[in-house]
Amino acid sequence: MTAEVAAPMIKASVVNKYFGDLHVLREITLEVPRGQVVVVLGPSGSGKSTLCRAINRLEPINSGEIAVDGVPLPAEGKALAALRADVGMVFQSFNLFAHKTILENVMLAPTKVRKASKDEARKTAMELLERVGIANQADKYPAQLSGGQQQRVAIARALAMRPKVMLFDEPTSALDPEMVQEVLDVMTGLAKDGMTMLVVTHEMGFARRAADRVIFMADGEIVEDTTPEEFFTAPKSERAKDFLGKIL
Ligand code: ADP
Ligand code: MG
Repeated sequence: MTAEVAAPMIKASVVNKYFGDLHVLREITLEVPRGQVVVVLGPSGSGKSTLCRAINRLEPINSGEIAVDGVPLPAEGKALAALRADVGMVFQSFNLFAHKTILENVMLAPTKVRKASKDEARKTAMELLERVGIANQADKYPAQLSGGQQQRVAIARALAMRPKVMLFDEPTSALDPEMVQEVLDVMTGLAKDGMTMLVVTHEMGFARRAADRVIFMADGEIVEDTTPEEFFTAPKSERAKDFLGKIL
């Protein structure tokens, strides 16, 4: 029997966050083990985005501690840049650089931050564009692609940093309905490959199929932390029942 246990990929301990008087994260304690796919659900304004942003320190927290792969979040400097490289993030808005090609968008951060050579960065970028099914668009500009394609590029761009964990904040919410599935398919592929993922989404089909675990937030608190099966068939809290009643 080995006693060695790897640190959880994400560990949040009693995290509190305020915007002025508004208490947006309340005593959040959460561990995400390596390789787990966690879907975060909850009504608008419940703190889901703030939690994601706190995990790569786009938002500072007021108290508590967050660690990624056993390392407490550094406040600034090189250590913070290294942390950000380990935590990939994909937002609702893809934020690609409009005046760079798809390939250049994916190559940029690895050459700037990871100091990869151009050749190395290009090779990796092409592999990732292949993986998200879009290598044939490499020389186009973002505006020439559909929303679904642009979001797949944004995923490739995040993966180019070789992150240890990926955070997705409503990655399909801005897409036309017919483009949602192609993005979810890429995310499902990542999950199958063993990526640790925290996914805020309203796509309940994805939550049921791809999540190992569902976290339901309301008013800045984690109200339920359970399996998708349990959450969708037997939610415990009134707030979760109310939420499911509105969306299902
Ligand atoms: P969710 O992603 O679940 O919709 P958010 O994390 O975006 O929730 O927001 C949680 C609460 O914090 C909301 O009440 C929101 O209005 C507030 N909030 C979010 N960002 C800011 C900010 N930069 N300044 C002030 N209030 C904010
Ligand atoms: Mg949000």
